[in-house]
Amino acid sequence: MNSGPVHTPPRGFSAPMYHTVLSLGSNLGDSEALVAWVVANARQLGSVKTVSSMYSTPPWGGVEQPDFRNVTMAVESEYTPRQWLLWGSNLEARAMRTREVRWGPRTLDVDIVDIEGYSSSDPELTVPHPFAHERAFVLIPWLAAEPAAKLKGQDVSALVAALDPQETVNIHRLGL
Ligand code: ATP
Ligand code: CA
Ligand code: CA
Repeated sequence: MNSGPVHTPPRGFSAPMYHTVLSLGSNLGDSEALVAWVVANARQLGSVKTVSSMYSTPPWGGVEQPDFRNVTMAVESEYTPRQWLLWGSNLEARAMRTREVRWGPRTLDVDIVDIEGYSSSDPELTVPHPFAHERAFVLIPWLAAEPAAKLKGQDVSALVAALDPQETVNIHRLGL
C-alpha cells in the first residue's frame, strides 16, 4: 500500500491545464499600477506564461474618455475557465470597478480572450471573446506576448496586419 500523503491525487490523475489568454485594461485611477497588480496576482498563482509590455491605447467603442493602459497575458493552470472569470471579477471589485456606461471608463477590466481547446457561447462567459478579433488593443499586445498565437484558427499576426491603420496609429508600447 502506498503510504504517500493523503492529499496526493491518485497516480496518473491530472486536472486539465488550460492555456488561457487574458486582456487587462484600465483608464481610471492609477491605471498602470492596477494592471501591474493583476499581473502580480497571476504570478502569485504561479501560472503566468507570457506577459506583453504595457500599452497605451485609444478608447474603443465610441465613448469619449481617457486613453487606456492594456496588457495581454497568457496563463496556464488548473483553474477552470469559470475560475479565471471569477478571479478577474474579484480583482475588478477590489479595484472598485463600476459599470455606468457600456464600454465606458473603468478602473479595471479583466477579460478572457481565448482558451485553447475550449469554446462557449454562454453570455456569462463567451469564449473566444466576441470582439477580440477586431480589437487592436487586445491583438497588438497579444502578438507581442505570443508571436505564434492563433484566434479561431487565424494567426493573430494576420489579424493585426488586417487592422485598419487608423485603429493602430495611436497605440504605443510603453517601456513597462
Ligand atoms: P466587453 O465584454 O465588450 O469587453 P466589458 O468588458 O466592458 O465589455 P463587462 O461589463 O466587464 O463588459 O462584462 C459584462 C459581462 O460579460 C460579465 O458579467 C461577464 O460575465 C461577461 N462575459 C462574457 N464573456 C466574457 C469573457 N470572455 N471575459 C470576461 N467577461 C465575459
Ligand atoms: Ca472588456
Ligand atoms: Ca469585462
